[in-house]
Amino acid sequence: MKWKQQLDGMQAYKPGKPIEEVQREYGLQEVIKLASNENPFGCSPKVTAYLQNQAVNHALYPDGYAQNLRTAVAKHVGVQETQLLFGNGSDDIIAIITRALLYPGVNTVMADPSFSQYWHNAEIEGAEVRKIPCIEGAHDLDAMLVAIDEQTSVVWVCSPNNPTGVVIPDGALRAFLAKVPSDVLVVLDEAYIEYVTHPEHKDTLPLIEEYPNVILLRTFSKAYGLASFRVGYAIAQPEVIAKLDPVRAPFNNTILSQAVAAIALDDQGYIRACREANEKGKKQYVDFCEKHNLTYYPSDTNFIFFDSQADSDVIFQELMKRGFIIRSGNALGLPGFIRVTIGTETQNAALLAHLEEILTAQGVFA
Ligand SMILES: *Cc1c(COP(=O)(O)O)cnc(C)c1O
Repeated sequence: MKWKQQLDGMQAYKPGKPIEEVQREYGLQEVIKLASNENPFGCSPKVTAYLQNQAVNHALYPDGYAQNLRTAVAKHVGVQETQLLFGNGSDDIIAIITRALLYPGVNTVMADPSFSQYWHNAEIEGAEVRKIPCIEGAHDLDAMLVAIDEQTSVVWVCSPNNPTGVVIPDGALRAFLAKVPSDVLVVLDEAYIEYVTHPEHKDTLPLIEEYPNVILLRTFSKAYGLASFRVGYAIAQPEVIAKLDPVRAPFNNTILSQAVAAIALDDQGYIRACREANEKGKKQYVDFCEKHNLTYYPSDTNFIFFDSQADSDVIFQELMKRGFIIRSGNALGLPGFIRVTIGTETQNAALLAHLEEILTAQGVFA
């Protein structure tokens, strides 16, 4: 058949291994997945209560405009309803942006390592991908500026960055945006915004007023604990949203997903509690890295990326045998590093005890 040439040799996204598969393979009763940055505490109890009693008519199409959720998010964020675009996860929004702006002959600039969907989608559309190496886990914004030329359509900025966890301070972000040509769309992916505690991070919403070529991406998959429901959204000027909206599939969220997202949004106390618990959990990992002199990147997310000083695929395997799923840096663009989602206090302590044993056996602490 006449496949797009770009699909030659292309592979589907490799997610973290599912829990059931690891249980079967290793004969384990309990497996803890700290591989995909889901909220270890789950979602707001208000969502759980709603799901137990909901009586939705599943035969009907959802509201393609997501009116109720739109009103709730517009109020929460403080924007007009016309400034929002909803997606089947922010993955969907990334695909929509790519489809709207990238094609053979244009290029797109992003950090490396960063979120793989940026280049994956760009390659499907046949655009040139310009990956700019991070410096100690941080975007090299100066080098990214140099990479932008007449043919650049989209620049991806992931803050905090997945997989490194590093957030871009307000000053550096503003200095960068001031220099990006106004006809280049800057996507600021804020999938972990709820976890940010960095003192130099400021509210990014004013940026879309000052720089109408900026679009913010947010998601209900991480801190809100609703990854299975697939809801993400974009915030931008109405003109930007209006251009992207025709590219969106007509019913790209479900009735249930719209309902639970609105309920979860309403429970900001839960998000605060999760952020506080995450800070404590992060400290468990930071203390471990400091104690053992392992290089780690300062994280403003619910995961931490650090140097195992060993073959990270081996560490991944060894942890899996012991019932923990993490991500090896080999799969994420930084061999030797591992990315661990910050779990509950008990999960973190258990994982770190195993890791201490494994790294000792690997001769790292000898
Ligand atoms: C998890 C993640 C996403 C995708 O989230 P969904 O809303 O579940 O599609 C997007 N960007 C980054 C950086 C992520 O880590």
